[in-house]
Amino acid sequence: MFASVAPRLPSIDALLRHPACLPLLERYGREALLSRLRQLLDELRADVLNGQLSAIEISPQVLAGRVGERLAQQQRSHVRRVFNLTGTVLHTNLGRALLPDEAIDAVQMAARYPLNLEFDLASGKRGDRDDLIEGLIRELTGAEAVTVVNNNAAAVLLTLNSLGARKEGIISRGELIEIGGAFRIPDIMARAGVRLHEVGTTNRTHARDYEAAISPRSGLIMRVHASNYSIEGFTARVPTAELAELAHRHGLPLLEDLGSGSLLDLTRWGLPAEPTVRQALLEGADIVTFSGDKLLGGPQAGLIVGRKELIAKIKKNPLKRALRVDKLTLAALEAVLGLYRDPDRLAERLPSLRLLTRPQADIHAQACRLQPAMAEALGEPWQVSAVQALGMIGSGSQPVARLPSAALCLRPHVSKRLRGRCLLNLEAALRALPIPVLGRIDDDALWLDLRQLDDEPAWLAQMPQLQVES
Ligand SMILES: *Cc1c(COP(=O)(O)O)cnc(C)c1O
Repeated sequence: MFASVAPRLPSIDALLRHPACLPLLERYGREALLSRLRQLLDELRADVLNGQLSAIEISPQVLAGRVGERLAQQQRSHVRRVFNLTGTVLHTNLGRALLPDEAIDAVQMAARYPLNLEFDLASGKRGDRDDLIEGLIRELTGAEAVTVVNNNAAAVLLTLNSLGARKEGIISRGELIEIGGAFRIPDIMARAGVRLHEVGTTNRTHARDYEAAISPRSGLIMRVHASNYSIEGFTARVPTAELAELAHRHGLPLLEDLGSGSLLDLTRWGLPAEPTVRQALLEGADIVTFSGDKLLGGPQAGLIVGRKELIAKIKKNPLKRALRVDKLTLAALEAVLGLYRDPDRLAERLPSLRLLTRPQADIHAQACRLQPAMAEALGEPWQVSAVQALGMIGSGSQPVARLPSAALCLRPHVSKRLRGRCLLNLEAALRALPIPVLGRIDDDALWLDLRQLDDEPAWLAQMPQLQVES
């Protein structure tokens, strides 16, 4: 009779030399492979001693396979592409605007080569990075001068601090807004060193309210575009032109934070009206701030435009250096702004505008086309239908406006009690795909709004891998 002998773990050295590990050594390097092998052997040691693992389970081939999976997992980037089928086009949590090819090429160039970021090629002297895009922004907005920072929150902070520190900032109670991510106007004002002087009421503020607040302590009047909510009904708001006239009569600058700030009238493409930057300046705002990656459709940036002497003051603030934009952003921004010189073709060339203006019939046809593949991937327990849906612009632009769209509507054939769990499982399964698919749950169904599904082949190719826990 033979006593059964528990199989023994191979040694680290033997494993490192084993042909099954050579491709891993080549791909990930000795250090990473060694540490993952050690980790795996440590985990298995107790089970091996207890005789719970077979010789096959601890063969070099199997161990190499397991370590290979872990190394691949570890290697995988944390910055992942996803399918945004939420119905919200400029989704802040999903990276907002997608850049046009022209901007992607410009970013590549700026990443790969030295460039004239702060160097004036004409004079051979030191330059200013804002000069690279100032001409273009002036042309597109009619502003006298321009400076660019990291995002619009930074633009507001920097402007307030430069023009109103240790003085009072007068603002209507109806405009003391909070934007997602804990950006609240009163907090930003406090951090900028500006004392908040709120006037009027939530729904109604009159010129006489502003007028009564003005004193020698006043530093500026601020107006904030109520981007992510709307006040309707019994309301009153002083027109910008009138407010500007009042501010100037008292020697105060008027700042207008436009938020999404579009450069062109969007109604020309059938989208809801948004005040343009040019219009705000024409009406008398001295400084206008807006985002680069909302309706403008460019990279994350904060643009500050307006009167020359105020911009000069803002640029001299030491905070400007802390909030400045990098070369990749400037390269992308210039390329995106360049497209605005040809508005007739903008909707073809700028992805955000192309997506926002995609016709509902087109999206609905796509939903009908994809319905069979989705139904097959989900099988019996789900009802899959191609339906009309309503999407949103996002990023706080036009919170009430809806974009007529179409979606795949996925409904589980189960009792109402079990529906919530089913939908969460489906959501998780869609997130676990190689390119995670993000939709939205509403009315006991999961909706995949197809407005933004450009890459249909990639989406279809991964559908067979969908595995929903039941
Ligand atoms: C979005 C928004 C901001 C913040 O802009 P970011 O570019 O996200 O920093 C500030 N003010 C208003 C009115 C906004 O809509």
